[in-house]
Amino acid sequence: SLSENGEGSTNGPPRTTRGGLRVYKIVILGDGGVGKSAVTLQFVSHSFLDYHDPTIGKQWNFYAFLFFALKVDIFPEDSYQQQAVIDGEAALLDILDTAGQVEFTAMRDQYMRCGEGFIICYSVTDRHSFQEASEYRKLIARVRLTEDIPLVLIANKLDLQSQRKVTTEEGKNLASQLGCPFYETSAALRHYIDDAFHTLIREIRRKEAQRAL
Ligand code: GDP
Ligand code: MG
Repeated sequence: SLSENGEGSTNGPPRTTRGGLRVYKIVILGDGGVGKSAVTLQFVSHSFLDYHDPTIGKQWNFYAFLFFALKVDIFPEDSYQQQAVIDGEAALLDILDTAGQVEFTAMRDQYMRCGEGFIICYSVTDRHSFQEASEYRKLIARVRLTEDIPLVLIANKLDLQSQRKVTTEEGKNLASQLGCPFYETSAALRHYIDDAFHTLIREIRRKEAQRAL
């Protein structure tokens, strides 16, 4: 049985609440450029920023810098709070959008330990990002010492069909290997974004209920 602040939970971080709402700590993982920030922004603010827009012209120096910075993913991680009602139950999602600091193991271990649920993201246009997805799963398992981790796999950039390098079948197979739900998403079109986050909350709740038995 769990105490109020979650001490005594067998695995995973303690539960917390804020303003009476249960807080769910979510971590978004995946290679640079797959759309982690775009997916997160669509979920929390219903907007899409395409900073590769070639029409930006004039202030090219600024945009060249911006492009470079985003391309190599040197912007720091960011966290966002979003309320949602999932299956009639209110939740506060505390979302950590990670950036290219995966090599700093201390920092990485820290957020992998704190996360209650993970979204591993790859891009359907980038085979390498697909191969890396299972590596992220291994990293989480290594830090958490358990295979029973709430997780959703997403294949983003579904709208870029002509550039597709990873099939739906491959994605489904990986998800069943990892034992997690799978969505093909488009941050650009806001397709299946809410579904991915809501399903992750359901996974957290389901596994919590199992542990409480
Ligand atoms: P991150 O490094 O994983 O955070 O990736 P970003 O969110 O910064 O996205 C990288 C690039 O891919 C940006 O130019 C985005 O506009 C673009 N992008 C992200 N998601 C999508 C998508 O679903 N469709 C398309 N067409 N472009 C996307
Ligand atoms: Mg990003």
